[in-house]
Amino acid sequence: MAKLITLFKLLPKAHQIALAILAIFTSLILMFPSEDAQASKQTSMEPSAKLESHTRYQVPLAFRSPSAPETSAKSDNSEDQTTLPTADDEAFSAHLSSLSSGSKTDQIIDRIDGELKAQQKALKEAAELENQVEYYEVTKGDTLGGLFNRAGLTAKDVYDITRLPLAKKNLLKIIPGEEIAISKNAQGELTELSYRMDKISTLVITKANDKYKETVNKKSLETRQSFITAKIKSNFWSAAADAGLSANHIMQLANIFGWDIDFALDIRKNDHFSLIFEQEYADGQFIRTGNILAAEFVNQGERYTAIRYKDGQYYSETGNSMRKAFLRSPVDFKYVSSNFNPRRLHPVTGQVKAHRGVDYVAAIGTPIKAAGGGKVIESSYNQYNGNYVFIKHNDTYTTKYLHLTKRSVKRGDTVKQGQIIGTLGRTGRVTGAHLHYEFIVNGVHRNPRTIDLPKSLPINRSEKAKFDGLSKQLMAQLKSNQAQQVASN
Ligand SMILES: [Zn+2]
Repeated sequence: MAKLITLFKLLPKAHQIALAILAIFTSLILMFPSEDAQASKQTSMEPSAKLESHTRYQVPLAFRSPSAPETSAKSDNSEDQTTLPTADDEAFSAHLSSLSSGSKTDQIIDRIDGELKAQQKALKEAAELENQVEYYEVTKGDTLGGLFNRAGLTAKDVYDITRLPLAKKNLLKIIPGEEIAISKNAQGELTELSYRMDKISTLVITKANDKYKETVNKKSLETRQSFITAKIKSNFWSAAADAGLSANHIMQLANIFGWDIDFALDIRKNDHFSLIFEQEYADGQFIRTGNILAAEFVNQGERYTAIRYKDGQYYSETGNSMRKAFLRSPVDFKYVSSNFNPRRLHPVTGQVKAHRGVDYVAAIGTPIKAAGGGKVIESSYNQYNGNYVFIKHNDTYTTKYLHLTKRSVKRGDTVKQGQIIGTLGRTGRVTGAHLHYEFIVNGVHRNPRTIDLPKSLPINRSEKAKFDGLSKQLMAQLKSNQAQQVASN
């Protein structure tokens, strides 16, 4: 019933009046008690008795690709009034006659039906004349003046409208392919203009008493949760993309676990991951990706979990911060070539000295990030290292970056974690472009990919109970979705 009412509100005035009249007659007919009417009344009561309002029902998350959002079947697009079916009238008369079939009221109904049809037709024609919406597409080289001219409007209309601040900002910058909807009254004067500013906002300009007024209609956003799970066959990116994860979410996921897992070098076949994430929709139309709420990543048999808390930070399911003093990798995995091939561990042959670092093979120019915050103690060039940067993080930790094409920090600079310090190159004694990265703990070279890194603070004690509740709920959701996925395979 509620749906019917909303649908009703969406109809043009003329339809509303016609439908109201129809409704009155329909209820009149229903007053003659026929068996059919009673039976349907009873069955229609049942579902509302089963589902209680103000009760949260568990609805399983959908296994569905986010890149191909389903288009909503119901026509709840309030801006799309013109696309509403015009066969309504016929459908309702058919409904009317089916209700009355076989009854004595046949003749009366027929007469009323005919009168109604004529009335509807007149109303519809009047409405069309009065407020006809026409759509004008912006063509190449078009100006608002040109478009208004095509729409039969005047230069004064352009002038008046562009005195409104939002109209000035938006309508003077129209680009080919965009559309402006214009409604005029019977005298051919502009009554309403609408222009889609973005996927959710429409600028509406109305004219009343010779004055223009502008408003912005915003569609309400609806956040949906989705679940994806995938096993890695060749590389992380394609496994995630094949499972339907957007590029944005793939990078988010790599960043969340990037403190624990070196996505450039440590991903192996059969690693797997699952996540619950949000997507925003308006009128059933996909608008943008939202946050990852919970995730699990199993890398070389090691399981990592992440829960997003309301502070916007990620914590492991037990409440430890995901964030660490050092990034596992100073190069984004998406740049690193063959990030999956385990034979690629020492790609630079001809190295005489013992290899004391990690090599990342990527294109020249790939940005290199400071693995942690600290002070630049060297930024220079020599024939072995090529362009190099050393960063001292504290008395314990130092990191070194060799063979850069370009250095973007100087000795003495303070750098933040993740700050770009230069670009990958093939300077110095090398046979191919790569970054040579060293991680030194108390003067000793250590493997940055496996070393235990200092953790930052866990979730605040006062928030711990709340966090645990959320973590349990999301982890249970993740597990039940994983189980469903396995069952459906
Ligand atoms: Zn190396």
